[in-house]
Amino acid sequence: MIPYKHEPFTDFTQAENKKAYEEALKTVEGYLGQDYPLIIGGERIMTEDKLVSTNPANKEEVIGRVSKASRDLAEKAMNVADETFKTWSKVKPEFRADVLFKAAAIIRRRKHEFSALLTKEAGKPWNEADADTAEAIDFLEYYGRQMLKLKDGMPVESRPGEFNRFDYIPLGVGVVISPWNFALAIMAGTTVAALVTGNTVLLKPASTTTVVAYKFMEVLEEAGMPAGVVNYIPGSGAEVGDYLVDHPRTRFVSFTGSREIGTRIYERAAKVNEGQIWLKRVIAEMGGKDTIVVDNNADLELAAQSIVKSAFGFSGQKCSACSRAVIHEDVYDQVVARVEELTKELTYGDPSKQSNFAGPVIDQASFDKIMSYIEIGKEEGRLVAGGEGDDSKGFFVAPTVFADVDPKARIMQEEIFGPVVAITKAKSFDEAIEIANNTDYGLTGAVITNNREHIEQARQDFHVGNLYFNRGCTGAIVGYQPFGGFNMSGTDSKAGGPDYLQLHMQGKTTSETL
Ligand code: NAD
Repeated sequence: MIPYKHEPFTDFTQAENKKAYEEALKTVEGYLGQDYPLIIGGERIMTEDKLVSTNPANKEEVIGRVSKASRDLAEKAMNVADETFKTWSKVKPEFRADVLFKAAAIIRRRKHEFSALLTKEAGKPWNEADADTAEAIDFLEYYGRQMLKLKDGMPVESRPGEFNRFDYIPLGVGVVISPWNFALAIMAGTTVAALVTGNTVLLKPASTTTVVAYKFMEVLEEAGMPAGVVNYIPGSGAEVGDYLVDHPRTRFVSFTGSREIGTRIYERAAKVNEGQIWLKRVIAEMGGKDTIVVDNNADLELAAQSIVKSAFGFSGQKCSACSRAVIHEDVYDQVVARVEELTKELTYGDPSKQSNFAGPVIDQASFDKIMSYIEIGKEEGRLVAGGEGDDSKGFFVAPTVFADVDPKARIMQEEIFGPVVAITKAKSFDEAIEIANNTDYGLTGAVITNNREHIEQARQDFHVGNLYFNRGCTGAIVGYQPFGGFNMSGTDSKAGGPDYLQLHMQGKTTSETL
């Protein structure tokens, strides 16, 4: 087996890559506007009621009309998944892993097509879409290999006359609920982690990015996944989501999304419903309010570049995005001035044009929410750049910077999930770390410093799941920087890490007297 290595990013300065991406966009344009069925037990079920997926950069452009699961169909999918679990849980781990390796190969061959679909459906600029697809491939390659490492369990001791084993067995039916912002990578990663460990899955992707999830289902089928192992049931979060979370046959829920929905799921899943014979497990990866700290002896150009790139890449719609910067007072004015300059240079608009650094935000609700936070920001701080939005054709918000914001201000505390960064001043490095820790979240953070003592201090005291030094706070790589946060950022799980798959299994001890 070739050792795991992450999928390289595409260099779009190369003419041939640029051409290939433009062709991929044409391929995707060739199949826009189609109707898509649900997939339950391999059966295609077309419903009248549809979720319409549109291009956030061009509201008129329909990406696809996807069938919508009702409660009855969700129940049917649950029965299929429950039944399929009896066979799939006994299939050899090698077989399950091979499905992932084959799926990775298929996506690698159609890499630009998947990325181009993300450009259209999620509004991702080329490089961001390319990174999303690369991450999906990484999850497939990494979790496949992790399963092969775990297939014989973990070593335990045996005494003379006794043979002990400790094996991992699957849990049962998992409900996978995924977000739109890594519409391929997170959807695929959370789905395949559940299936490679021998569970069956009910996949409810985010309502705005259902087509890419359908295309991924086709890849799994082509890769040899038996019918009924993953069932594709897009639908309303409130209707189908609550129903499945409450269902007594649901064994676990793997959720990635907002704190609001994550805590709701956590609470509902805790209730033992009639007919239920287990306590449900919940893996919840939730929001962030991520900070970059700039020390007084830092490389100031690096600091400004890191803030701007982490704040505005994919229009700030990453749970890891930098939405607050805490800058030492000695260098505050210089860094703010450079952040202003760099932000004003950014181009944003149609993401299918490679020249645009950023594209739209995902939908009207998101646009409205971000614009209302910009209004709040105008009260709470000094507007340095941006501040405008335009939702006439698509949902465009200018990269926006507020300076001189109080650390307790709302735009310093609440997740906005858009291209808005709030900056505050600290009197010392100690105070900067204190401010960095003063939110309910604990997902990512970065420290820009040339002081070794301060690196060590932050390593100990900056309480986030992913802490970076002298770089931005986004861009974790599967298998290199396991990803997941503390506190209200989730259940402390680490996607793309060596202990992630175990969250989808339970340990069984067997002891034979010889
Ligand atoms: P969201 O919470 O609105 O939706 C996530 C998913 O939950 C969607 O599929 C949605 O349909 C579903 N849902 C809605 N109501 C539900 C209910 N009552 N029961 C069950 N499911 C329901 O989040 P989003 O807008 O798609 O994604 C953005 C959020 O995700 C941000 O807060 C971001 O920080 C977070 N996020 C976190 C991570 C991480 O790894 N920690 C990664 C990506 C995104």
